Amino acid sequence: MEEKVKKKDIRALTLDQLREFFVNNGDKAFRGNQVYEWLWQKSAHTFDVMTNISKETRDLLTSNFVINHIKVDQIQRSSDGTIKNAVRLHDDLVVESVLIPTKSRTTACVSSQVGCSLDCKFCATSRLKRMRNLNPDEIYDQVVAIDNESRLYFDRPLSNIVFMGMGEPLMNYNNVLKAIDKITSPEGLGMSPKRITVSTSGVPKMIKKMADEEVKFNLAVSLHSAIDEIRTSIMPFNATMNLADLREALQYWYSKTKNRITYEYVVWKGINDSQKDADALVQFCRFAPSKVNLIEYNPIDDGQFQQANDKAIEMYVATLERKGITVTVRRSRGKDIDAACGQLANKI
Ligand code: SF4
Repeated sequence: MEEKVKKKDIRALTLDQLREFFVNNGDKAFRGNQVYEWLWQKSAHTFDVMTNISKETRDLLTSNFVINHIKVDQIQRSSDGTIKNAVRLHDDLVVESVLIPTKSRTTACVSSQVGCSLDCKFCATSRLKRMRNLNPDEIYDQVVAIDNESRLYFDRPLSNIVFMGMGEPLMNYNNVLKAIDKITSPEGLGMSPKRITVSTSGVPKMIKKMADEEVKFNLAVSLHSAIDEIRTSIMPFNATMNLADLREALQYWYSKTKNRITYEYVVWKGINDSQKDADALVQFCRFAPSKVNLIEYNPIDDGQFQQANDKAIEMYVATLERKGITVTVRRSRGKDIDAACGQLANKI
C-alpha cells in the first residue's frame, strides 16, 4: 500500500533553506529568492501562479510542499467601520482579527494563539482553552488580509499593527518575532517596527528577553491593577508573575531601549475604581516615561465586570496628569460585532 507522505509547509523554510533546496535539486540558489518573493511579498496561494518559474520547477515544489494559507471565512462590519475577520487555519481551527479605522490610521489587531494560555477573568478569549500557537505565516497572513481590506474599503494601506487579539503574544514568542521579521523585512511588507505594538499581560522573563534582543517595536502592558491582591483576583497568573517581577522586567526594558512604556488599563466598577487604585498605578509606572490608555470595557455577558462610571475615569485622568503621566481615554470600537478588546471568542 502506498504510504501517504505528509508534505511540509514551504513557508516554514527560511530563505537560506529554500535556496539550499534548489541547489540540492540541481537548480540555482537564486530560484529560492524568486519563490520566497512569491510566498511572502506576493502572498501566492498556489505554486501555479508563480509565472516566472518553469512548469518543471513548480511540479517539483508541488510534490514536496504545500502552502498552508489562512482563509478569511467571514467578514463582519461594524456601524463604526470596524471589520472583524474570522480566520480559518489549515487545520480548521479559527481565530479572529480586527481592522480598526480612524481618520488618520488603519490598525490591524491580530491574534497570536488559538485560545489563550492565560486566564484573565474579564476576557472572552480565556474561556477557550489554548489549543495551539499560531505559526509565523498564520500571523503574517492575518496582517496581509487586513492590509488588503484596508486598501479595498478605505483606499489606504494598513498603517499600524497591535498584537492584542486572541492569545498572549509572549507565550508564542519565537513565532511572533519571526512574523514581525517578515512584516518588517523588504521581502515581506516592509513596515516600520515603530508602527507595531506587542501588547502583553506581563510575562517578566520574556520582556527581559525582548530587551536583550533589542527589538525595535513598541511594548504595551495590560496592567489593570497595580495592587497584587486585586490583580491576582482578575488575572490569576499574577500570583506567580507578580507586580514586583513585572516592574523589575519593565525597568530592565527601559534601561535597554529607552522606549516609553504604554499601559492598557480598564477601570471596573467596585474592583479598581478608587483613589487608592489610581495612586498605586502612578507609583507603579512613574519610574519611566509612560502612557496610560484607559480603555472602555465591553461586558462579556456574565455581569461580573462592569465599566466604572465617568467620575472614576475622571479621577484616574486627574491623578495621572497631576503626576505628569500621559493618559488617554479610549472608546471601544466594534462593540456591535464583538470585535472590541477582550471580546474575541469565535462567536461567529
Ligand atoms: S486578556 Fe489577553 S492574556 Fe488575558 S486571557 Fe485574554 S487574550 Fe489571554
